Amino acid sequence: LSYLDRLTDRFPDLPPGVLLKADLLRGGVRLAEPEFGHKYYSHHDEKGQKPQPTNARQRQGSVQLPDGSHVFIAQNPKSKFVLRMSSGGADAELGYAPDPDGPEETVCDVRPGPQFQWTSQRTTKGAPLATIFVPSLGGACGPIAVFLLRYCEFTVAEEECKFCSWVRMGKSTEMRPDVEGMREALALIQREQKSIGYLAFSGGSLFKRTKEADPFVDYMHAVRETGVALPPTIAAVQALDREDSIRLRDAGFDYVAYSMEVWHEDVWPIVIPGKTRSLGRAAWMDRLKAAVDVFGPGRVACNFVAGVETAAGVFRTPEDAAESTLEGMRWCYENGIYPRYTVWIVPGASQWGDRDPAPLEYYARLLPGRQALYADYSLPVPQTDCARCLTESCEADLARLDPARFAQGAAGKHPWQTLHAHA
Ligand code: SF4
Repeated sequence: LSYLDRLTDRFPDLPPGVLLKADLLRGGVRLAEPEFGHKYYSHHDEKGQKPQPTNARQRQGSVQLPDGSHVFIAQNPKSKFVLRMSSGGADAELGYAPDPDGPEETVCDVRPGPQFQWTSQRTTKGAPLATIFVPSLGGACGPIAVFLLRYCEFTVAEEECKFCSWVRMGKSTEMRPDVEGMREALALIQREQKSIGYLAFSGGSLFKRTKEADPFVDYMHAVRETGVALPPTIAAVQALDREDSIRLRDAGFDYVAYSMEVWHEDVWPIVIPGKTRSLGRAAWMDRLKAAVDVFGPGRVACNFVAGVETAAGVFRTPEDAAESTLEGMRWCYENGIYPRYTVWIVPGASQWGDRDPAPLEYYARLLPGRQALYADYSLPVPQTDCARCLTESCEADLARLDPARFAQGAAGKHPWQTLHAHA
């Protein structure tokens, strides 16, 4: 039996491509071709680049599977999956070799995601464009992101989120937003990509959350000042007090994501000790509800890092862990909050970078459970989400691949395929 046939045997109720995507995400991919994806700057300034054991982590990209799903490629030299590019980089093949010295089986051909040239260009003042905007998660519809605060205060006492690889990338000098540079960068990006799926703002956390919110407001003012027509915008930030949520809304953000990451109260201090001390679970949930008053139902998102809770030692089975997260998603819906998830990507420089990933049984329970929620609640899917930019979750894939079973309610109405024009 082939790898995909074995998946079908194990999980006959799900399209095999969806579990292949979860499998690729959770354990990453070994690259036979190290120059895959876009190089990006984890800091605003070139000087702030801290030497890494490998530059590989400072590249990102995605591949498209034969069923049309787009998958973020997390690089892991120890992965059982191998990605081989053709010499021109136009095609690639995915192999499976659980034993690095053993035989390798071909899984499927894949198509590498877009390679944008702007990421290696500079503004007229000499700033690399990739220090101003970053292609977001390899999305083929051309989403971009801005990292505002490239430092997380939770690292001081090692209270960072256990799944976060990003905070160990070093520290850089903060820079003020440069309207002229942004205008120039956006024009070059638009010209090349033709469209931008979404514009996300995020960064590290501070215990003073109002201070954390300040650059979001400043940068949004600056990016609005460019006069460029913007795609849907979202701020991924700690849960802010009502007054700060109002500041973000008034600055022009369409959406905010105040992500709980994990649901169960016993899992909070284990997986997200910084967020537990900064605000705590009950206060976080209050701020989420207050943000719905400010932004409106469906305009406030809450992400769950799907699978990380299985490593907390709290749940008896992977299915119990999945049920807990589904309970959290249900609570979100009940309160007008849009629940999202991203598959827990284990490899990397995070504190839990050497843990076993969540078993596929966990995803086989969570993914259809999340889709079923679409039938129970009418909250629309955010305009930030499409089939080409959800490279770390499967909502769009399930709705697209098996609409009879998985495209109920809002999932059936959302234009997953056409929302963001092709880049
Ligand atoms: S808050 Fe958590 S996820 Fe965000 S940068 Fe800090 S450690 Fe990473």
